[in-house]
Amino acid sequence: AALEKLDAADAAGDGTTERAARHLVQPWPTAGQIGAEARTYIAYGDGIYITGAGGERLIDGPAGMWCVNVGHRRAELADAMRDQAMELSYNTPWYTMNEPSVALSERLAAHAPGDLNHVFYTTGGSSAVETALRFMQFYNNVRGRQEKKTILSRQGAYHGSTYLSGSLNGRPRDRDWMDGADGMVVKLSSPNPFRRPAGMSVEAFSDFLVEEFRETVARIGAERIGAFVAEPIQASGGVIVPPDDYLPRIAQICRDNDILYISDEVVTAFGRVGEVFASLDVFGVEPDMITFAKGVTSGYFPLGGVMMSDRLFETLRRSNHPDAMFAHGLTYSSHPVGCAVALKNLDLLEGGILDHARSVGPYFQQRLRTLEELPLVGEVRGLGLMACIECVADRDSMNPLKLDNEVGRRIDRHCQELGLLVRPLINMCVMSPPLVISREQVDDMVAILREGISRTMDDLRREGLW
Ligand code: PMP
Repeated sequence: AALEKLDAADAAGDGTTERAARHLVQPWPTAGQIGAEARTYIAYGDGIYITGAGGERLIDGPAGMWCVNVGHRRAELADAMRDQAMELSYNTPWYTMNEPSVALSERLAAHAPGDLNHVFYTTGGSSAVETALRFMQFYNNVRGRQEKKTILSRQGAYHGSTYLSGSLNGRPRDRDWMDGADGMVVKLSSPNPFRRPAGMSVEAFSDFLVEEFRETVARIGAERIGAFVAEPIQASGGVIVPPDDYLPRIAQICRDNDILYISDEVVTAFGRVGEVFASLDVFGVEPDMITFAKGVTSGYFPLGGVMMSDRLFETLRRSNHPDAMFAHGLTYSSHPVGCAVALKNLDLLEGGILDHARSVGPYFQQRLRTLEELPLVGEVRGLGLMACIECVADRDSMNPLKLDNEVGRRIDRHCQELGLLVRPLINMCVMSPPLVISREQVDDMVAILREGISRTMDDLRREGLW
């Protein structure tokens, strides 16, 4: 029966969906639909657009997965990939090295804040976070602080799908059915001003979060806490922009207590909020490590990495254990093709796309906020070219909708009919288009969203759900 339903949903009419159901395991399946879930089939991408099997063109609202920053079908990136593959397609990073990874490290170090002058390359974001955490453990082992390993994370966080990075995830549905290294991780509140306690000012909310952090450090003991890991903006948690002074205040407590601050910039780096790295330039913090992925190659090649500070390296070099080995490395660390793509991607960003993102970002935010006129919309929030529309049952109480599993999807379905792919997140819709989006294309996006949300409101009323 599931397969029959899939046939009906098969827009291509060529059995692609059924073929996928037979053999392809898609990420994030539910048990009831595992191996049998129809997903929108994408055949082509060009600029901010993607095209389905039937030729219908959609604006790529989430830029793939926050990652196609320079847009689809950039010949420069395809050429860089091909040229590098023809020159040197692979070399083992265990005991050889290549030029693109060295050149990229120089470029990234020049952009990174403070003394974050060193890069360890991975295959994506999860492996970057995993690397940063294992490096923290190694660092403390070498320093003789074997007890200093607890990791502080937050509700609403997303840091990856490997075992330890996934243990940091703070959205309930990411953890409900999954095991994790729970004894190693402590979760703090999400810095979500929209969901702050009723009657509390944003300033008081920030004080509350800082106090919670202080208390947690006092309760566990700084000598047992190795790292604090935070997305500057919680992305998959619903584009949560924290109160202005919150991150710098937490960073200071980390510094005072020898807790490594790991800034997870897998989403925010490479222009999403206008800068190559946002930690210092946008959020005022100088972390000990920055993890990145996605936008570093605009999604054209799986690559991620960790920026690490001089200070960490000097401490290790001066330690009593010069022979202790950081026994961690991936076959594809420092991949020459990935690094060559990243170098060209950085050329494109520096060659005008960052400037464009800085100028179109505020327009995007301002236009999207006009959707707050719609009674289903509780809040539109975001920064730069990342935003979230959160729907509520009732504007006065800001209660989430009872039917919360469906509202984002309902809006997405209508928007897809109108020419826009949206990323539904329970009762929210996330938007993070390619950075090359023009003002006219922003207007198109907002017009489609307005109509898609209006149609959703009509449906909900008709079905007596709202
Ligand atoms: N950190 C953050 C903030 C992310 O958003 C993601 C992916 N969405 C990851 C880590 C994991 O990255 P990847 O999927 O490339 O492993």
